[in-house]
Amino acid sequence: PPIKGATLAVEDVSKAFGGNRALDGVNFRAAPGRVTALIGPNGSGKTTLLNMVCGFYRTDSGRILLDGERLEGATPHRVARAGVARTFQTPSIPDGVTVLEAVAAGRYSTDRASVLSAVLRLPGFRRVRRADREEAERMLALVGMGHLRGERASALPLGMRRLLEVARSLIAAPGVLLLDEAASGLDEDEVDRLAELIRRIRAAGGTVVLVEHNFRLVLDLADDIVVLAHGQVIAQGPPAEIETNPRVLGEYLGA
Ligand code: ADP
Repeated sequence: PPIKGATLAVEDVSKAFGGNRALDGVNFRAAPGRVTALIGPNGSGKTTLLNMVCGFYRTDSGRILLDGERLEGATPHRVARAGVARTFQTPSIPDGVTVLEAVAAGRYSTDRASVLSAVLRLPGFRRVRRADREEAERMLALVGMGHLRGERASALPLGMRRLLEVARSLIAAPGVLLLDEAASGLDEDEVDRLAELIRRIRAAGGTVVLVEHNFRLVLDLADDIVVLAHGQVIAQGPPAEIETNPRVLGEYLGA
């Protein structure tokens, strides 16, 4: 099924915490049908950048645009409604719901808190509406988890819960999908499965942004790699360029 990806543009974004310049004039662009990876050593500003895009932090200066609509200064709720979805390193899947219910609930969520309230507070949520069930089934098929629809979501292994998080995000039809360290803690098979899913999302036209420590995975998957060090973009380009960039090798791999 096609996914309507949006273009995310980060323009000259800066952010300081006290005297510490966490981000210093950062520019990058993530486009539909492409996987853009943000990498860099610890403390280079990746999380700050994600938090800024999601509206958790305010920018000191610069612009963040989604298909031309300005997002900097918007609340996390508004950013989510505008179409930016983010998965977290720790999946937050509520207890006592099935895989299908967890995915269906994603339809009503524009942020993490409301996923929970959608599941826990909607009366009779267990009788998932037919249209939602069908959509949830489609998403489960996309992530290859259709056979697990009736399982207790929170009891799944970490790799499956990560895929489930992606399915839950996708059901809200986001323009941009931000994956925060989605591969961390996964075994090789699980990483392969995640990579396959990300390729499918890309092929369907989605815009994917990865913040990822797994350099191999990034080289393998990404169309564009943005390398941060000390809050600045020190290199940007396709894997073949990044892999051989001496500054990247020094700053990132040598770190
Ligand atoms: P990364 O995700 O690449 O490891 P971060 O974005 O977490 O990097 O950190 C970038 C810099 O900003 C670091 O120097 C970090 O100490 C600082 N920083 C991040 N968040 C905060 C915060 N909430 N308050 C103060 N300093 C912060």
